[in-house]
Amino acid sequence: MKIINSITEMQFYAESLRLQGKKISFVPTMGYFHEGHLDLMRVARKVSDCLVVSIYVNPAQFGPKEDFSSYPRDFDRDHQMAQTVGVDVIFYPADKDMYPDNYQTYVNVEKVTNNLCGISRPVFFRGITTVCTKLFNIVKPHCAVFGKKDYQQYVTIKRMVADLNLDLEIIGMPTVREHDGLAMSSRNVYLKEDERPSALTLVNALELAQKLYDKGERKSSIILSEAKKLITGAPFTEIDYVKICDTTTMMDIEEISGEAVMALAVKVGTTRLIDNHVFGEKLNAQ
Ligand code: AMP
Repeated sequence: MKIINSITEMQFYAESLRLQGKKISFVPTMGYFHEGHLDLMRVARKVSDCLVVSIYVNPAQFGPKEDFSSYPRDFDRDHQMAQTVGVDVIFYPADKDMYPDNYQTYVNVEKVTNNLCGISRPVFFRGITTVCTKLFNIVKPHCAVFGKKDYQQYVTIKRMVADLNLDLEIIGMPTVREHDGLAMSSRNVYLKEDERPSALTLVNALELAQKLYDKGERKSSIILSEAKKLITGAPFTEIDYVKICDTTTMMDIEEISGEAVMALAVKVGTTRLIDNHVFGEKLNAQ
């Protein structure tokens, strides 16, 4: 496996692969791998000749009061885990190269970023779309694999790729969960032992919502109020949002008719967790 730090070296290597007619797949990450990351890599591995994984904790997507400096990092562990799924290249750039002094260009996707995390994390999506555009220009992939655990991010990237005519395919993968149903996240390491049952209220609320939907309930207000009751009934929880949205526009809907996603962000102690479920799909919670 190659480890490439330099942007120009990565571009040169990607170009040489393309000239040989090789297909490049790409999984952008912030590192501190778990099974969710590895699942994306396994899929990307199957559809290409060269699998590139980037590890980069992107400062542009963190607000001033967020966890950029404490975000978990362990390159050696990630390196070993990447080896087990056949990653060909780890691209591991430095901040000073990604955002040199006098950096001033950002990519902004409008409507789909206005709701949900776009409200509570004002610079988040601008940071994501900017870094992904840069990474796509550096890694030159034919396809990139994203997790639907970050559903609004997935929709935003698809929108950006379509709007800017970027020449790559975006593949979305279902959420990988722990044995107890908790959506895997690098941030789960922040959870204290006694907070874990409270963290499970996210997936429990999604299951409850699906059950109400199965019984024929279509009114968002009724499903959301039951879900919120379940979450706030547990200690340490503070709801950021619990919403039901159209999967294309990411805007709130009052009544479920077409494809709809229930998305939630909840602080458990000091850890902000997100999860989501598209009604009618398998939740795969346990
Ligand atoms: P991150 O390192 O958190 O930026 O995530 C990198 C990629 O892994 C993103 O496309 C995420 O959506 C995806 N991902 C994170 N957690 C999961 C999960 N539990 N299941 C599937 N994909 C995930």
